[in-house]
Amino acid sequence: MDIPSILPPSLLAERLESLAYLYKRADSAVAAFVAASGVSCPFGCGSCCEGFVPDILPVEAAYLAAYLAASDRPRAYEAAAGRLGARSYPDGRQGCPLYRTDTPYHCGVYEARPLICRMFAFSATRDKLSRTAFSVCRLGSSLGGARGASGEALLDAFGAEPPVMADYGSELAGIEPEAAGRRMPLPEALAEAASRVMFLIGMRDDDPLDGGPDVRPPLPRAG
Ligand code: SF4
Repeated sequence: MDIPSILPPSLLAERLESLAYLYKRADSAVAAFVAASGVSCPFGCGSCCEGFVPDILPVEAAYLAAYLAASDRPRAYEAAAGRLGARSYPDGRQGCPLYRTDTPYHCGVYEARPLICRMFAFSATRDKLSRTAFSVCRLGSSLGGARGASGEALLDAFGAEPPVMADYGSELAGIEPEAAGRRMPLPEALAEAASRVMFLIGMRDDDPLDGGPDVRPPLPRAG
């Protein structure tokens, strides 16, 4: 995502650049683990997004909002108006509003998806004694058939150690430290962030706002 082409120079733009770098490293760590272990999801499976609404931090929501503002402006306005609620399923489950049923890849914001979505099925947890543990999703598979292991056995079972979610989570929290405790369900976080991002975009002189509401603050009047 080309952040400078979306947002004017600002603290938020700098933070989104830091987040993009974190996401890039998380993706590389996951890719290295997947290559070594052969852990994979069934093709076209989206069950983890169907019954799941991620809790995300404001800076991740701002990243999503900036992505929507650049790729699907009407949807960004919809988000800012708080109209992207959790998807309800007939069996009572509540799922992510950004999930799509018309593509086997399902995520409607794949490039901008939050950290948990990037690492969910391919990362380890760490217990109080700092031991790492990893289990393959009940629907997934691994190259050698291993389903789970912890500590030193991880390397033998999977051929590589999975990245630890908490390590990346700590780094994520440090990007916008004053909001590190404000984890919220994605729909709420996105509504707040989309307003924030659309306001900043409205400050750009070169953004025509595509017919959306003009959210620029009024200019001060002389005299
Ligand atoms: S953002 Fe994408 S990957 Fe994450 S829960 Fe929503 S649809 Fe799934």
